[in-house]
Amino acid sequence: MDFKLSAADEAFRQELRSWLDSNLPQGERRNRFALEFMHSEAGEEWERRVAWHKKMHAAGWIAVHWSREYGGRGATLTQQMIYQEELERARGPVLANLQGIGLVGPTLMIWGTEEQRRRYLPPMLAADEIWCQGYSEPGSGSDLASLQTRAVEDGDYFIINGQKVWTSDAHHADMCFVLVRTDPEAPKHKGISYVLVDMHSPGITVRPLAQMTRDTGFNEVFFEDVRVPKKNVVGEKNNGWLVALTSLMYERRYRGLDNNIGELVELARTVRRNGHAAWEDDDVRQQIAQFACEVNALRLLNVRQLTRQLKGLPPGPEGSMMKLCSTELGLQIALFAMELLGPYSQMLYEAPFAVDKGKWSYRMLAARGMIIGAGTSEIQRNIIGERQLGLPKG
Ligand SMILES: Cc1cc2nc3c(=O)[nH]c(=O)nc-3n(C[C@H](O)[C@H](O)[C@H](O)COP(=O)(O)OP(=O)(O)OC[C@H]3O[C@@H](n4cnc5c(N)ncnc54)[C@H](O)[C@@H]3O)c2cc1C
Repeated sequence: MDFKLSAADEAFRQELRSWLDSNLPQGERRNRFALEFMHSEAGEEWERRVAWHKKMHAAGWIAVHWSREYGGRGATLTQQMIYQEELERARGPVLANLQGIGLVGPTLMIWGTEEQRRRYLPPMLAADEIWCQGYSEPGSGSDLASLQTRAVEDGDYFIINGQKVWTSDAHHADMCFVLVRTDPEAPKHKGISYVLVDMHSPGITVRPLAQMTRDTGFNEVFFEDVRVPKKNVVGEKNNGWLVALTSLMYERRYRGLDNNIGELVELARTVRRNGHAAWEDDDVRQQIAQFACEVNALRLLNVRQLTRQLKGLPPGPEGSMMKLCSTELGLQIALFAMELLGPYSQMLYEAPFAVDKGKWSYRMLAARGMIIGAGTSEIQRNIIGERQLGLPKG
């Protein structure tokens, strides 16, 4: 493994860094959880995210991993890693169309028709059409293939009835990629189709769900006799499971925690315990050093995954390992911050007198959701146990 970047990759980093430095005012830099996309974004905050997305888009900094033909930069895998690192370093507002750019866009490039790509990719890139993901249902989360939302054929249309749940950003969305059952007689993985649904269609109702952070970033979505043209099926009818797995493959990725360590050090230097700064206690410094080592190990695991892909090998179990370890570590870091804060940890986000605006208690609550979303820790452990360690199925 060679850690040195090529001249082209270094130039890519410098170009992005200097663009971010000149285009992102200090006041716009965020002071919250790296994954704040679940925040409810009432009015202004959502508009701020969309405006930032459009500014980055105008400068050609959205979807760098997409091919140039579809408006991306054709960035190499290494450049994609650099892109994430630089966005994280700059702490800009979270981009506005994550499910579109990150999940359905790349899926359309593999499975979509040329007509679907031409129709959907440009407005997705520009955040003119916001996307959400309609996979989970009340009885089908970890066991996703048991989903019951039905699509019945009617001429050139499907008629969809059923319910989705935990649908992030559905309240902002114009489009949804939905898994529906099109053949109830087939074995459960074989009768599913992947369809693109206009969220403004008659018969769709979106109801917000409150999280324990008090945000309402995800929703229940009800479908009552919703008509969807058959040309909106991606891949073949009843072959949607494979298409769905392609989107999932893009979802389990590395979530950097480097900023968290620096912020934890700052916190330990600020809060006082027993008459001195918490940072002066050996056990506090040792715990933070331990977190820093684990964050670094995850970063290297990410590089190992990248190396596999650069060698043309299929994605390994690193995706599950990174998803499991980074979300669990995010929670451990937030819990340790709560310990440092003592009674101040009880103050909610943006409460008057809260240290750091109460961001740590927000993170501690939000971190639980990260452990569940995109496949729970138990499911990731099953995958690692069965596919990596060769343990028998439980
Ligand atoms: C923040 C957040 C955002 C989300 N966004 C979306 C979205 O945009 N679109 C969408 O479709 N879904 C979304 N989800 C839903 C998410 O994918 C599901 O919550 C997740 O897959 C778990 O499913 P479930 O909630 O039905 O729990 P269940 O599958 O019912 O699991 C309940 C418990 O049982 C455990 N369990 C289940 N099966 C096994 C097993 N085989 N072995 C061991 N333990 C097991 C689980 O680990 C869990 O602890 C989101 C969830 C969260 C938290």
